[in-house]
Amino acid sequence: MVSVAERRTPGVLDHRRDSRGGSTALDLGRAGRVVRSALGEPPGIVERTRWLFAMLAVTVLELVVLPAVVLGGSDEWAGAVGATAVLWTSWVFGYRRRRSPMLMDLVDAVALAGLAVFAPTNGAVTWVIFAAVLFRSQYGSAQRSFARAALFTGALSAIVVLWPMVPGHGGTSAVSSLLTSVPVILLAAMIGSHLAGSVRAREHLALLEGVLGTMGARLLGTTDADAIREIAWVALDRISEVTPGLVVIKITAGADGLSVEHATSGVVVPAVLPADLESALERGDSACDRSPEAHAALDAAAGGPHAWVCLPLAEANQTVGRTWFLVGAPNRVPPAALTAVRNLANQVTLAMRNSAVHRDLTVLAEVDGATGLANRAAFDAAVARDQQGVALRETSVLFVDLDDFKDVNDVHGHRAGDDLLRVVADRLHEATRPGDLCARIGGDEFAVLLGRTSAAAASAVAQRVVEAVSTPVTLPDATVNVSASVGVATVVGGDDPETLVHRADLAMYAAKAQGKGRVQVFESDLLDRDPSWVVFERDLAAAAGNGQLVVHYQPVVSTSDGRCTAVEALVRWQHPRRGLLQPGTFIEVAERTGAIGSIGVAVLRQDVTDTATWQHDHPRTVLPVHVNVSALQLDDDTFALAVADCLRDAGLPADRLVLELTESRLISSPQAIVRLHAMAASGVQIAIDDFGTGYASLTTLRTLPAQVVKIDKSFVAGCTTNIEDRAVIEGVVAMADRIGLRVIAEGVERPEQRALLLSMGVREAQGFLYLSPQPVAGLLSWLAERPPVADARVDRILIPFTPRHSA
Ligand code: C2E
Ligand code: CA
Ligand code: CA
Repeated sequence: MVSVAERRTPGVLDHRRDSRGGSTALDLGRAGRVVRSALGEPPGIVERTRWLFAMLAVTVLELVVLPAVVLGGSDEWAGAVGATAVLWTSWVFGYRRRRSPMLMDLVDAVALAGLAVFAPTNGAVTWVIFAAVLFRSQYGSAQRSFARAALFTGALSAIVVLWPMVPGHGGTSAVSSLLTSVPVILLAAMIGSHLAGSVRAREHLALLEGVLGTMGARLLGTTDADAIREIAWVALDRISEVTPGLVVIKITAGADGLSVEHATSGVVVPAVLPADLESALERGDSACDRSPEAHAALDAAAGGPHAWVCLPLAEANQTVGRTWFLVGAPNRVPPAALTAVRNLANQVTLAMRNSAVHRDLTVLAEVDGATGLANRAAFDAAVARDQQGVALRETSVLFVDLDDFKDVNDVHGHRAGDDLLRVVADRLHEATRPGDLCARIGGDEFAVLLGRTSAAAASAVAQRVVEAVSTPVTLPDATVNVSASVGVATVVGGDDPETLVHRADLAMYAAKAQGKGRVQVFESDLLDRDPSWVVFERDLAAAAGNGQLVVHYQPVVSTSDGRCTAVEALVRWQHPRRGLLQPGTFIEVAERTGAIGSIGVAVLRQDVTDTATWQHDHPRTVLPVHVNVSALQLDDDTFALAVADCLRDAGLPADRLVLELTESRLISSPQAIVRLHAMAASGVQIAIDDFGTGYASLTTLRTLPAQVVKIDKSFVAGCTTNIEDRAVIEGVVAMADRIGLRVIAEGVERPEQRALLLSMGVREAQGFLYLSPQPVAGLLSWLAERPPVADARVDRILIPFTPRHSA
């Protein structure tokens, strides 16, 4: 009896034997694959077309000639069959080798001539010649196709002249009628080479697109500059691989003159670059043509005569000097490849900028740029760390505010003010111990964290700080006297770090209230007194409830025809004493104190209600409303509910609401992102605001279900003069096109900016050029003069994106 194990063993052994020597079972599989690959369509449009014409030629040969020979009963059938066999072999060989060398053309010419002589009817031969020329035209240049056509024509003409002279054969065939095939040969060569050209161009374009797409995907989420360069060069190598003869050389003009930074594979980088190359590069484009020495050096590097185009690059880091791509190809640089390289350069500029901002922000996240002290975030983090898990340990915080700093700024200018801040920073260091943390936490506000320091010791340090700061400061143009008010707060054990900082802050205000240059230690009755900022914060917290928030609207406009495609809601605070306040003066405070929650919901309700009203009054008009949302609002899990409530109460469809998230204040919590996805799934659209200013730039797009990016106004402001700003905009447009995002440019103020943006493919814009933010009435009267996009166009233009991230 055979056990299960035994029964299974032979199978395993068989398999091993197969993989070494090959058994019948596997051989059959392999044979099947060979047959399939011989008969099956290969991938790629060029190869598929060649396959099609190869099949056509072979089939015509078999179907038209052989039956004619056999049925026609020609006594010269052996010659025809021989010629057919030669053609068949030559074509299959050419197809498999993917080329059509001159020798094969000669063989074809002789065999076709033979077929023409021996075949019973000239009509049949004409079809074979037609198919043969079409097929062969798929290889090599158009010139080769016409040379081949001339060769075949010559062969037929030779037959017409020579055949009647062969003894015993004069007049055997009516060979003279063969010349009727000549127009067919020319026609086939023309059609074939034209078709081959356009099919190759299409495949080339698809390959280039693929390369850029892959690179774009890899660049998303890459912030390391070296990694970005590496990704770019992999893509450039690939572009040159799919574009015959294309080479790219990156040249930098630094302090030591010109140097080659990198080049695509195969380029022999010259040790020394000719002197006239730099002036050629400066002249731009194909200017190398006018510098023979430069041209010769580049040709030598590329290994043969090339045409050269020069693309100036916008390097994010200009300290390395100016840079260029030199793109070369034999005869002429194909426009599609040049566009691809230009596109690549723009995407790389965008990624490099992203990387630079990322690097700066990583440093900025901890250091105050003006003084080199720690900044507020680093200070708060240090206080929190200090308080963590310690019991019964005294920690003190000093809050230091300069008295009359504003006067120094006003009288001596901002530069003097900045110098003064640096001097104060130095004096803070001198007045404290090396282990203490000095920070600048606002305009003229400093703080010091004194670890393991009692209230009494902290007061002594505070006094030293007051004395140090009050020593006259000699600036380049003046000597100034300032003083400092210092608040001291001390806690014992792990108290809430915010409370500690808040108390030092209150004490500082109390010190200031008593006059300049004083120290005040925190006492609990200070909590009952109200410095002005406390009043401001309290008013702000109540502003939403008191109906003091006002919304202004600014239209988003189509750059091509100036019609309105959406509106953005921008909040203002009608302050009872200070008048109408812009968001810049209170949004940050609201975020810090948490008032943003109530403000955000009140504004959202107002925006959605207004939109629903004009929607109701103008049913043929669809204007989505863009609402700014602070990242902090998303940390609150009731926000999504509030959005749904507001939409339902106002009766506004979800796709008329676009939530704008400022990219620099990145949504980092995973729950917030989950909430965003849920809202997006309900139809609400997401826009990324101020795009390009935050370090998250490209990475953000991967995690957020966004449909819109808004290019920050700083790029628009610079686009007409600054090549880097332009490159960033072009890069954003290319990337947005690829992943299906709408692009809106912000802050368009001048007609030339609009024209440039339009030419760069930005379809929507916003800015003072069209309309500054207005109260509802102002917006409606502006709209009345310019009917917004309506009806069928609306659906196409306004809601072109079905949410990509459904539940
Ligand atoms: P944002 O979202 O980038 O809004 C665009 C800002 O650019 C607005 O400033 C607008 O008045 C201004 N602007 C429009 N066109 C032009 C132009 O052509 N040139 C220039 N230079 N500026 C232009 P605004 O109204 O002061 O708002 C400032 C920021 O406050 C907004 O920037 C937004 O981040 C925030 N914000 C406004 N409303 C809200 C809100 O309801 N909630 C939250 N969380 N933030 C808001
Ligand atoms: Ca906005
Ligand atoms: Ca913005």
